[in-house]
Amino acid sequence: MAIAFVQRAKHVLKIMWRGIDMTNYRPYRDIQRRKSRQIMVGDVAVGGDAPISVQTMTNTPTSDAAATLDQINRAAEAGADLVRVSCPDEDSTAALKTIVKESPVPIIADIHFHYRRALEAAKAGAACLRINPGNIGSSDRVAEVIKAARDHGCSMRIGVNGGSLERNLLEKYGEPCPDALVESALYHASLLQDKDFHDFKISVKASDVFLAVAAYHGLADAIDCPLHIGITEAGGLRAGTVKSSIGLGNLLWSGIGDTIRVSLSADPVEEVKVGFEMLKSLGLRHRGVTVISCPSCSRQQFDVISSVREIEDRLAHINEPITVSIIGCVVNGPGEARLTDIGLTGGGKDTHQIYLSGMADHRLQNGDLVDHVVALVEDRAEAIQRARDDQPKMTNPK
Ligand code: SF4
Repeated sequence: MAIAFVQRAKHVLKIMWRGIDMTNYRPYRDIQRRKSRQIMVGDVAVGGDAPISVQTMTNTPTSDAAATLDQINRAAEAGADLVRVSCPDEDSTAALKTIVKESPVPIIADIHFHYRRALEAAKAGAACLRINPGNIGSSDRVAEVIKAARDHGCSMRIGVNGGSLERNLLEKYGEPCPDALVESALYHASLLQDKDFHDFKISVKASDVFLAVAAYHGLADAIDCPLHIGITEAGGLRAGTVKSSIGLGNLLWSGIGDTIRVSLSADPVEEVKVGFEMLKSLGLRHRGVTVISCPSCSRQQFDVISSVREIEDRLAHINEPITVSIIGCVVNGPGEARLTDIGLTGGGKDTHQIYLSGMADHRLQNGDLVDHVVALVEDRAEAIQRARDDQPKMTNPK
């Protein structure tokens, strides 16, 4: 069994090193990503063929470096590639230095209007400034911010939002609409391009899914910079997840989006988890365990719901890409197991079937079901790690 695990793990890694997912031989699953230029946010590449990064934003006072770092660490553990912190005042940019130094992931400083905060944030080591150059005043100020970004290796994100469109565009278009968002984005971009600064990405967010999606489609056609996608103010955990999945799902499926943030009125860790689940659902990232499970019904031969809950909780620490099917009975169990790395199908008379790499492997009884599946997944994760250690260093894993 261990040998089969290692062989399978080596096969998967070999495929990932080629830079394309050759396991995806089903063309109906292919997503052609929009070609964008690539920028760097610290050591994370955004755009081009870089994996779509997942980001979130802290909601602690940034001036409280310890509390902010605690949240950043939890988000990073959940898989965040980038974290944004707001910098509304000097105390925040003062704390930023410590935050940047101790953060495990690059930090994006969120600036509104106060160009001095941008200068301070760049100096403090922010990897990226979220700032709209058209909102910070004179051309000299824009030049100063660009110089600070260049001097300190910062990229920028222009963040257009349907709720805070420029007055002249509201007068021109009557209300926030896709063309208005795109025009605003291109205006801010032109201020950077005019000064030969091109290390920026753009977002055109709105809380209305139709507006945001149409604006992103328009922007994707109009410019080649990387796009940060999100549905802003999407709502609480459940409603916001659904809304974001519809909006971002549409965009990602169309190949649009180089970095994503799911905005939820919830713990930033939840934003990261939801973001990753979206990307995993579309085969765009492969981090961690993906559980395929049935809703259960009276045919279930073990308690599917509580088993899945416990398995997901206990396997949250696994980063290796592993698929697991947990299915209550033979109606759908064998079929789903064929497509997953590890499968459990409920069997009659307390005999359940375990599948490995799609093949029926052994049976087991109730009692230790969850422990058994957790152990199998952890073994496989170890095998993948061992196989990785045996290979040359891999860059840019999905
Ligand atoms: S797989 Fe079996 S237990 Fe699960 S929902 Fe379908 S019929 Fe019910």
